[in-house]
Amino acid sequence: MKGRNILIVDDNKLTRKILKDILENAGYGVLEAKDGEEALQIYKNKLPDMVILDIVMPGMTGFDLLRILRKEEENLMLPIILLTSQDNFEEKIKGLELGADDYLVKPFNDKELLFKVNNLFQRIEHNRMANPLTGLRGNIDIKEEIKRRIKENKPYAILYIDLDNFKSYNDYYGFLRGDNVIKLTAKILSDAVNLIGNERDFFGTHRWR
Ligand SMILES: [Mg+2]
Repeated sequence: MKGRNILIVDDNKLTRKILKDILENAGYGVLEAKDGEEALQIYKNKLPDMVILDIVMPGMTGFDLLRILRKEEENLMLPIILLTSQDNFEEKIKGLELGADDYLVKPFNDKELLFKVNNLFQRIEHNRMANPLTGLRGNIDIKEEIKRRIKENKPYAILYIDLDNFKSYNDYYGFLRGDNVIKLTAKILSDAVNLIGNERDFFGTHRWR
């Protein structure tokens, strides 16, 4: 995760400095903007890997900037953390509605900030490795998860679910319909895991081709 650039957008110089120090100490590159206009300029020129965005700023607010960034399809995967001054429920809902990934309430704790930043980068990485057909975690994640369980040395169970005679189905009905069968199967299984499973359950789709 090191070597990634994070753009901090906050009108308060001290907040920018605190964020910058913590993130740079953790190995991240930091870009700073004091308002929305400057942020957009820097964003276009430097394409940072993440944006940490203050909501309350003079002129363009954090919400305005969030709306502008999320309008572009290529920014949909850009991780954005919003900074709020108090635990304001309305602000949180509005930010989530506009596509923020997470929140940080000021004054924040160093560790909390770094956990949130690291987790977001990790999630993006997982998405990149996901099975493109089902959107679920793919081969690399499945292997890692199995290794982790073996290391833990606690009881676990693996279900390996396969569709019988799937090749014949594909040959007869074509790949498009075959893909739909895989997607539907994945959906049924993940719904079942979400409904009756627990938080330790892991579900992925393995891919041969
Ligand atoms: Mg502010």
